[in-house]
Amino acid sequence: MTIPMSSPDLTDREREAVLEVLRTPRLSMGPRLEAFEAGVARRVGAKHAIAVSSGTAGLHLAALAAGIGDGDLVITTPFSFVASANVLLYERAVPIFVDVDPQTGDIDPALVEEAVHDLLKGGERRQRRLPRKGASDGVLKALLPVDAFGQPADYERLVKEARAHSLIVIEDACEAFGATYNGRPAGMFGDVGVFAFYPNKQMTTGEGGVVTTHSEEEWHQLKSLRNQGRADDGGWLDHARLGFNYRIDDVRAAIGIGQLEKLDRILALRREAAQRYGELLRDVHVEVPHADDADHLRSWFVYVVKLPEGADRERVIAGLEARGVATSRYLPCIHLQSYMRERYGFAEGLCPVAEGIAKRTLALPFYAQLEREDQEYAVEALRAAVG
Ligand SMILES: *Cc1c(COP(=O)(O)O)cnc(C)c1O
Repeated sequence: MTIPMSSPDLTDREREAVLEVLRTPRLSMGPRLEAFEAGVARRVGAKHAIAVSSGTAGLHLAALAAGIGDGDLVITTPFSFVASANVLLYERAVPIFVDVDPQTGDIDPALVEEAVHDLLKGGERRQRRLPRKGASDGVLKALLPVDAFGQPADYERLVKEARAHSLIVIEDACEAFGATYNGRPAGMFGDVGVFAFYPNKQMTTGEGGVVTTHSEEEWHQLKSLRNQGRADDGGWLDHARLGFNYRIDDVRAAIGIGQLEKLDRILALRREAAQRYGELLRDVHVEVPHADDADHLRSWFVYVVKLPEGADRERVIAGLEARGVATSRYLPCIHLQSYMRERYGFAEGLCPVAEGIAKRTLALPFYAQLEREDQEYAVEALRAAVG
């Protein structure tokens, strides 16, 4: 018996849609691309959606559109998938990691306010906030919050703080497609939002992502950056700016259209699976994910429990694996990855809350079609492994 970590919810509808594209000559930049973008825009209430080859590509374009460049400072969270910070390094910007809320794992708005204050104040206070190595005299440009595990960050405070200091907000909603905050969809709170559709996300295109923006000018810029810097009104071999090939093809857009059609069902199934875990884990010695509050309605991306303080996580993982239950250490702190330490001199103690959480987390198998009996089996394996 083996239970995987994740599994996409695909049916004959998506398989047929792929074959349909393969019967046409338009494998890229065809009608499915536009239909997929329109579908995502409609779903989240975005003015413009630009589909790209991955969530990482989307974040990179969002950073470029925000004008983030050499030496710029960007406040972001250490408790995330590395891509959210990597895109800053692509442009030689400097990530300023700010600690997270112990319950939600999202960047802590009070700590963001303090960091902004210190960085703008200058002198000793600013110096303390900069990385030990590779620090710069750059200016604070943007906030890059992440909706951790599908739970929207506290945008009311974050956006207010950003507006007060003319900072751009890039929302990494790669884990939060379908979530809402104060009744509004995740991905819509910053100046730009980014979703990802890798196969372990709520819905998938294989590889793929989408950038959303409210600005028409930015929409044109993003489409151009995605497509080798070509302008909408220029020729195929006219390049108005330095661009990338971050296009998504129509085969994958077709999968995305099929996934969008049943997104509500996928989200409901994931919510039910999370609820079942909550019940089954009631008398197991682990901390389950905190409940949604009145403002935040999460979109379930992964199901992550916290082991008791001081528990031997590696032993628990070995126990689960021996019983065929897949598991993962979601997520190690970004600032403690080896290349981050080397480049910036980051070390333990920079973000104690995130570091504490990261040591205790364990993701359990989680996907829309996860059967109750598999969950029961996984929970019994966990109970035995935790002891
Ligand atoms: C999945 C993810 C991404 C980007 O994912 P891709 O694999 O490039 O599509 C970015 N940020 C976060 C927080 C993610 O979870």
